[in-house]
Amino acid sequence: MTSGSLVAELVPEATLDALRAIVGSANVRTGEAVTSADPGWNPDNFGAGIVVAPGSTEQVAAVIQLCRDHQVSLVPQGGRTGLVGGSVSSQGQIILSLARMNAIERLDPVERVAVVQAGCTLETLQAAAAEHRLEPGIDLPSRGSATIGGMVSTNAGGIMAFRNGVMRHRVLGLEAVLADGSIMTDLTRVVKTSAGYDLKHLFIGAEGTLGIVTRVVVKLEPLPKATATALFGLPSVSAALETIRLALDTEAGHLRAAEALWQSYIKLAASAHGWSEPDFPLDQPICLLVSLGGASEQALYDEFERLFAEILDRFPEATGIIASSKQQEIGLWRLREDTDVIYRTHPASPSYDVSVPLSEIDAYVAHILRGLSEIELDLAPYLFGHLADGNLHIALNRTGPLSDSMASAVEAVLYNGLRERGGSFSAEHGVGSKRIHSLMATADSTKLSAMAQVKAALDGQGVMNPGKVLPLKRR
Ligand SMILES: Cc1cc2nc3c(=O)[nH]c(=O)nc-3n(C[C@H](O)[C@H](O)[C@H](O)COP(=O)(O)OP(=O)(O)OC[C@H]3O[C@@H](n4cnc5c(N)ncnc54)[C@H](O)[C@@H]3O)c2cc1C
Repeated sequence: MTSGSLVAELVPEATLDALRAIVGSANVRTGEAVTSADPGWNPDNFGAGIVVAPGSTEQVAAVIQLCRDHQVSLVPQGGRTGLVGGSVSSQGQIILSLARMNAIERLDPVERVAVVQAGCTLETLQAAAAEHRLEPGIDLPSRGSATIGGMVSTNAGGIMAFRNGVMRHRVLGLEAVLADGSIMTDLTRVVKTSAGYDLKHLFIGAEGTLGIVTRVVVKLEPLPKATATALFGLPSVSAALETIRLALDTEAGHLRAAEALWQSYIKLAASAHGWSEPDFPLDQPICLLVSLGGASEQALYDEFERLFAEILDRFPEATGIIASSKQQEIGLWRLREDTDVIYRTHPASPSYDVSVPLSEIDAYVAHILRGLSEIELDLAPYLFGHLADGNLHIALNRTGPLSDSMASAVEAVLYNGLRERGGSFSAEHGVGSKRIHSLMATADSTKLSAMAQVKAALDGQGVMNPGKVLPLKRR
């Protein structure tokens, strides 16, 4: 075996038999058992055609050791909701599914900590924590399928990141199996640990390229007794940011989410869902979906009325709806969360996920609108995102994929100068296989070289998810 990558040949039957001996025959799926299953967000996720599902950390370690010995690389998979091709696999590889390792091993309401296996979905953890009036402090629309291991591996963000941080800030400890089959156990359940290099952070956001995350200690937060949601139509990004500032200063409760929906996106989503409100015309430049959490629905409703009055004082043209029932609250959130409407309208619409410092958003959005229209007059983005932390999602009004030249022109508009503005070309989705060229084009060269050294040190043989995050090293 040489360093960098393993040879892509068919996985021999003898290797499959050895895998069956480790995890049990029923837990090695091939052929139709794989092709008939849902591949998840990327149709190429099941390209390898072999799914191995260990039931314990020791089995994960044995599978990895076997893969090294048999010169087969592996692709870890959680819920397969990743959006950048991190779970894509191809012939000659095996898929290591964490689906069977989905238990909540400990949920301690006094410590406000959960210890979960990597294949536990976010929704399962949310439901278990809610029984103790707690929550994981992170939430994503893909909560029903996304796993804690996948979220750790992509350093997921979501709607509460402005308040509670991203996945990196939710993890107190973790267990991971390294590429040599050894197990690193660092399951501390405390916030403070200053005991040398904090290596768990290497695996957070590594997208399975340095090891397999098998167990995670997740910090929990108090779950508010009540939530309330309002949608405000506002004249500008700066009005939306001012609204967030006012909402952060609420007297009853606390701000849980502030999601921006620019006009083109909310019009599309509203029309797809047949949503309309007589007092809420969709002609405002930007809408802000705001969620508050607190002790009682009535107090939050009253707080929203007070907040809306303050907004109107500053921006008389603003409009607003305060949800007066759970049904209405769900309807408002559907407008934000069912982003699939874009892909139903423009299949495989090219999509991007950038972070921009709040003070730069107005100028950045003006820059990309101008730049895209210079490529083609009617080329325009659907824009929405987690405005409170500066994370913008951008999907183009085009069916994908774009031609290479157009894709480069679009990326030049979106990414050139973004790092200098203090932002990032990948806010929360990761690099995967789809954004490696963007990482190479925009990252600091010393950082890239250090990343390559870390990969070589921990996985010199290229067993762990090769060709993701960093380019495949050719022999
Ligand atoms: C509708 C929708 C909405 C979304 N919204 C958000 C959002 O708001 N915020 C956000 O951050 N993301 C969002 N995502 C993206 C996605 O849900 C996240 O990236 C999530 O963290 C992926 O989790 P998963 O279990 O599906 O991982 P997968 O897609 O299975 O894997 C993702 C990556 O992690 C690796 N991996 C998976 N499990 C492990 C493991 N145990 N050990 C090592 N490596 C592993 C895989 O190899 C791959 O590289 C959204 C996706 C969809 C479809």
